[in-house]
Amino acid sequence: MIERTLKDYEAVAGEIAISQLRQLAQSLKGARVVHVNSTRVGGGVAEILDWMLPLMQDLGLDARWEVIEGYDTFFEVTKTFHNAMQGNPSILTQSMIDVYEKNNEENAERLRPILEEADFVFIHDPQPAILLDLCPNRRGKWVWRCHIDSSRPVRKVWKYLESKVQNYDASIFSMKDFAQPLPHAQFLIAPSIDPLSQKNCDLDQQEIDTVMAKYGIPDEVPVLTQVSRYDRFKDPLGVIEAFKTLNQTIPAELVLAGGGATDDPEGQMVLEEVRDASSGYPNIHVLLLPSDAHRTINALQRGSAIVIQKSIQEGFGLTVTEALWKERPVIGGNVGGIRLQVHDYYTGFLVNTPEGAALRMRELLRNPYSLQRMGTTGKQFVRENFLLTRHLREYLTLMLSLERGITNYVLTESSEN
Ligand code: UDP
Repeated sequence: MIERTLKDYEAVAGEIAISQLRQLAQSLKGARVVHVNSTRVGGGVAEILDWMLPLMQDLGLDARWEVIEGYDTFFEVTKTFHNAMQGNPSILTQSMIDVYEKNNEENAERLRPILEEADFVFIHDPQPAILLDLCPNRRGKWVWRCHIDSSRPVRKVWKYLESKVQNYDASIFSMKDFAQPLPHAQFLIAPSIDPLSQKNCDLDQQEIDTVMAKYGIPDEVPVLTQVSRYDRFKDPLGVIEAFKTLNQTIPAELVLAGGGATDDPEGQMVLEEVRDASSGYPNIHVLLLPSDAHRTINALQRGSAIVIQKSIQEGFGLTVTEALWKERPVIGGNVGGIRLQVHDYYTGFLVNTPEGAALRMRELLRNPYSLQRMGTTGKQFVRENFLLTRHLREYLTLMLSLERGITNYVLTESSEN
């Protein structure tokens, strides 16, 4: 966890943004807030909670972060939920539901006293969603925060999950395409990055060079990088295909950097496919990084001419904002939350196929002026839309509106403000 205080963010987000947060938090001082998710490391949710908790505490809220535990079979079931919510054909059997419910019941035994006493509970994603049913004496407001692209879920799986989330007081989605008909207020809140974290802070060129050299990435030709868990939705094989096409005309290096998340059991299989596809290509660097390699990822992003996030489904894609903040244009899959961040010719390019990605890579690499201009625009775009101050402000506003019973409206999407 970080030890920074809100004051540290004045330089980057402005004094007004920080004083707004303090004003909003005035009447929430002492409120007991609990966030629950399914992993402390790996993936965007953990990345966000890592900064959100200390800053909520700094604002005077009594905030804590709990993680549900589970056996491998549980995470296999919840990965099925995840895949099905993102539209992948998946079957949910009764025995899978049993594993899901039993595992959550065990967690509820441990967490019930904290959750039932809390004033606000934020349950992240499907893994712990059933905890609300398992806390019958709850007294606070409960919010289901869905981080994934739930625009076209597998109906049967959503029907089950819907029966578990409909009793929440509110839900949050990252963009309006993801919202589902639910009998409570829905808020649209896009994720954000911490500009001062190890992942996003400024680095000097020497540190960047050292990291590139450590992983054997030459600096004579442009480097393209995708940072992602090894997950099919991130389409690492599509990235390799695009890169091979590019490489027929332009010399370059490709870095695929990823690690595992403890709640993602499919990573190893996908990593092996990626290694197979890149074997025989010394200019494709497949890195398996530890979960705390934040500065390394920061350096890899900064050491790249272009960052890629060629997902085929994506809730948001924090890696996109991370790259834009570092003034790197992003070639991103034309899906989900990437569309909030990548705008053709301004902050990068949206692509639908490996061929399209190769074409845009070539176009950008042949035009250093565009690279630079998009980089500058991207950073400004993040400053205005995707910094943690905006994110915290929307969470505080949501809590205040729930507390005061004002729930008949939906917040507008940040990037459209
Ligand atoms: N990340 C990381 N190590 C890795 C792969 C990813 O620290 O090996 C980070 C990445 O920098 C980003 C987050 O994990 O902050 C991934 O969030 P994103 O929204 O892009 O995708 P998710 O994994 O949540 O689907």
